[in-house]
Amino acid sequence: MARLARVYFPVTALGPGRRLGVWFQGCPIACPGCMSRDTWAADGGTVVPDDWFAGAWATALARGATGLTVSGGEPTEQPQSLLALLRAVRSAPAPHGTEPADVLVYTGRSRTEFATLVPGGADLADALVTGPYRVSEPTDLIWRGSANQRLHLLSDLGRERYADYEQYRPEQPPMQFVVDDDKVSYVGVPRTGALPRMERSLRAADVHLGRSSWRP
Ligand code: SF4
Repeated sequence: MARLARVYFPVTALGPGRRLGVWFQGCPIACPGCMSRDTWAADGGTVVPDDWFAGAWATALARGATGLTVSGGEPTEQPQSLLALLRAVRSAPAPHGTEPADVLVYTGRSRTEFATLVPGGADLADALVTGPYRVSEPTDLIWRGSANQRLHLLSDLGRERYADYEQYRPEQPPMQFVVDDDKVSYVGVPRTGALPRMERSLRAADVHLGRSSWRP
């Protein structure tokens, strides 16, 4: 069984192209300044059976997915479910005539820790972003939250698709807002301090947020 914080398609702000985004629930790393404190609780989120991933990925492929982004929470806390997800993607290649789908995994662990905690996981991914978020080390590198985080290119497809982005520093980071019935979710990696600034701007416009995932 996998405990997930959210699933969304299409994600366009965390990796190239149109992607299925899967956020695992539960993170014990507890980085100060984390924007996703709502994903920390190990008993939060929604539970799905591991075989649910195959259907979710098939649906995403049918809608034109060019990749999978796994984030959290901390995916290595649920290694069997993470492997089930990665295997589901690898066993369902993109339809004939379409570009192959790549797999990008975010972890707050180091690459060595990832390899230990999820044996074989790196062989199923094309790119890996590693390291905890450090509020004291801001960066403007795309898809990374702090300067200590590393983008590892793990496969030929990963190198082909991500090499141009390794040192890419966009003027503004890509972002998406997903509106559900009772909440707005930010998809992407904001610059340090951007979310509190946005909250202040909204307040000045008389728009008041209820709970925010980046506030303790
Ligand atoms: S930034 Fe990532 S690793 Fe750090 S507490 Fe938040 S979810 Fe966990």
